[in-house]
Formats: sequence, C-alpha cells, structure tokens
Amino acid sequence: MGGRKEVERIGEGKVKRLDGFLEPYSLIKDPRIHRHTSGKISTAKEPLLEWTGHPFVDAGLVAILLIANKNKPEELTMEDIEKAIDFVAELYATKEWSSKYLHAMIFPNSGILMANPSMAKKRTPKAIAENLRNLFDEIRKIGKGSSTCLICGKRPVYTKKEVYLSVFPLLGTGGVPNYFHSANPRGADICAHCIFLTQFVPLASYKLSRVLVIHAYPYELMLELSKEALEDVKRRKLASEARGFKRPENFLFHLIGEITRRIERDEHWEDASVTLYYFVCNNQRQELDVIHIPTPALRFVAYANLVDYIGWKRIVAMGWRSQPKEEQFEEFERSGRPNEVYAKLLNNESILPYFYDSKNRKANTSWRLLAFYCSEVLGLDKEALEFIKSVGDRIVESLKKLPNNKLRRRVRELEGAERLYQFEAFFVRLEKDRQELGVEKPLMTFDEFARILTAYGEDINVSWKTVRNLLLFRIYEKLHNRLMKIEKSEEESKIEEGVDIYVEGGGEE
Ligand SMILES: [Zn+2]
Repeated sequence: MGGRKEVERIGEGKVKRLDGFLEPYSLIKDPRIHRHTSGKISTAKEPLLEWTGHPFVDAGLVAILLIANKNKPEELTMEDIEKAIDFVAELYATKEWSSKYLHAMIFPNSGILMANPSMAKKRTPKAIAENLRNLFDEIRKIGKGSSTCLICGKRPVYTKKEVYLSVFPLLGTGGVPNYFHSANPRGADICAHCIFLTQFVPLASYKLSRVLVIHAYPYELMLELSKEALEDVKRRKLASEARGFKRPENFLFHLIGEITRRIERDEHWEDASVTLYYFVCNNQRQELDVIHIPTPALRFVAYANLVDYIGWKRIVAMGWRSQPKEEQFEEFERSGRPNEVYAKLLNNESILPYFYDSKNRKANTSWRLLAFYCSEVLGLDKEALEFIKSVGDRIVESLKKLPNNKLRRRVRELEGAERLYQFEAFFVRLEKDRQELGVEKPLMTFDEFARILTAYGEDINVSWKTVRNLLLFRIYEKLHNRLMKIEKSEEESKIEEGVDIYVEGGGEE
C-alpha cells in the first residue's frame, strides 16, 4: 500500500517518443539507443565522428552538428568538418576567445588552439585550423597503438603530444604523473578523435562563472539544449553567457520550460537523462560540479510548465528566502540566489510543502499538477492519491458546515500537526463536530481511518505528513476565500488566540 509500485501516468496522453513530434529526428526509432549503423541513409562506412557518452567529446560533436545544421554524426561529410574547423579557428584566434576564455577557463596554455600566451604573435586562424586538420587526419590513420582510448574504447591512443589539461580539460598538469591512469607519464590515454572533438566544446557550452556543458540523452535533446550556445556564438562572435543566468540549474529548468511550452508537449522528457557539467580549468584551479537531474524531476518540471505555468512559477517563487513579486520573477531566476525548490528537486527531496502557501492559505496550483507530482516524483500510487483526495473532500464538506471560529481552529490544528497523535486528534475532533451537527454518517470508516493514519507511516516519501500536506492543499484549494475572510476579520477585531492549541487529554472547547 502506498509503495513505489509502477504508477500509471496521470493526465491524458499516450506516451509518445521524441521522434513523434520533433520531425527532423523522426528517423530514430528509439532515442535511448544510439546505433552507429542506424538508418543506413548515407554510406555503409563507419561515420567519421561519433557519440561516445563522454560529456566533453559529445559536446564537441554537438557543436559540429549544429554548425552543419545536421542531427546525426552519420550525416556529417568532410566538407562539414572542414567548415567547422574554419569556423572555430576564426573565433579562437581572437583575444576574447583565446586568452579570456580558452586559456582562462578551459584549455590553459593550449598548443593545439594556440591559447598559450607565448603563442600570441604566431596565432592566426590559419595556424589554428592547420593544427585541427592535423589532429583530424590522425583519426583516419589506422595506427596501431599499444593501448586504446579510454573514452571511445576503440581507437589507438594519440601519441604526438602528452595529453594533459591543455589538451583535454580537467586532466592534470603533467607535473604529477601519478594523477594519471597507471601513472602514465604521457597523460591520459585518449585518441585523436576524442581530443579533436573536445576542442569544439566551447561552442556548445555556456559561459557562466564557470563553463556549463549540458550533457543529455537522447542526443537530440542535447542538440536542443545546446543550440542557444551556438546561436549566440554566431550572432555575437562571443561565447554564450546563457542570457546572464548565474546558476546552471536555473538556466536548465528555464530552458526545459521554454522548450516544453513552445512545442506544447512534454513527452520527450519521458526517458531523458540530463547531467550538467559545471567546470573551470585553468592554471590556478580545476573544479567540476556534476549535477544530475533526476528524470522524474525533469518530467515534472516539463509537465508543470505545460499544464500550469503560472502555478509552477508560484511554487518556484516560494523556494527563495525573500519572495519575488510577479514582475521580479525572472530577475530572481537569473540571479545567484539559491532556490530551495530547485535544490530539493535535484536532491530527490519532496517539494510538497511548496504546493501551497500556508501563510495565505492558498493552493499554488491545481490538484492535477499536484497529482502528477505525487505519482511521478513521490511514487504515490494513483489509488492512494484518489483515496486521500476523497477524504480531503469529505473533510472540506464537514469544515464548511462549521461556524467560523471552529473552522479556523480545526484548520490550524491540522496545519500545526507535527506529531502523529496531533494528526489523529484532528480527525477525532472533526468527527465530534459532525456528531454535534447531527451528521449521521461518519467521516470515515474504521478501515479508512486506520489506513490514512498508519498505512503511510514509515515510508519517507509518503508518510502521514505527506497525507497531511495533501489534505491541507485540498482545504486551501476549496476554502481559501472563507479562511482568508475569517483571518481578516479576526485580525481586525484583534482576537488573540493561545499559541498552544494542542492541549493534551483531548480537551474539547
Ligand atoms: Zn577516443
């Protein structure tokens, strides 16, 4: 009961895959599986470049695909690669990219990209392109190496250069060989293919206070989420600054919302996996935060944007310590202020209390979105949810019949229930209220009473507190106006209530 069994998807909608509506990608049958030989649209030959699952290498491939305006590596031609090399060499030869970005944040002292400050005089687009072409040519030479690339696992290791952090971000400096695999004094065992692609990372990533790479499956999603970076580069000739967002997760959640609202579908997050790599690599520091976005959280954020964008913003707004006014929302979202709702979603913690505003006794969204959250993220089964909802409705019906002072007190009792016995007392009192009012049928049967109190007792996600929060949501949803009216009139007449409303011993007024 209330376990994490397979839950039925709430709301309408048959599950449809990404390819069902993102037309350009419609050839892919299962977006979770990348098949090197899929489609067989071009040639039977091995593609020149391919996905590896490594965030940096994949990001480089994304950049090249976006430059070529293609979706799959199998479709890339030699001309596409030439074009990408020339495009990137032109940028990388400028000071803004070379010293301020490549050297300062990604590839310190890079020789390949000539970001080493000592190369400033020799640095030209032609020279950088030449280096990249030489590297690319290495991919096609069928060399025999003693070991294979630790990223793609299939090509021989590149040996023309030591592979340290100036070649591949976040590796050691070479000064301390034992940092590397098998204390390899030549650095990491990486092939020309994977090194080549990594040189393109800056085009498909975002420059915040560190560098943000959004790695995602299916790869179509990665293209979608990285697209803006390249568009900015094309437009401004500078690295994308993610519209001034200061926190990577805020930017991602914002993008998810935008994409979902634009295509008016949320199914493509169904089996998605998104991980943020937020790093900086220079001579002073090498730092990396890996932020994995739980798939249920992805799906929920997408669904929320789709069914109740305003309500979702209200929920998020409650996650900031000082709440923004409606017109300040975007400013807050871009700022560096930590948001508890986002943090909890990322940590797999419940955000149920943010679904309502207990100060103003108001539900922030509809039951529909709440139900989706409970079933998809918390793992509450649909039947349990329906049961709680029906109990909630019966409570609302009973509360409606009470005079103002009693109604107010009952709701406060439920709000203040921090212990199970206090939660129990609420039901007992409400049942007595019903008897006093002459209602014949009890609020709940004994079985139902036992179920609501104990069936969800120990489960962390679906404890009795979850049930309490759901009931409060339903009460606020249905009785907000009356509750606020009572509050207002009480404030006006300045009636002070005792703080401790839980007099033990079941004392009734
Ligand atoms: Zn490789």
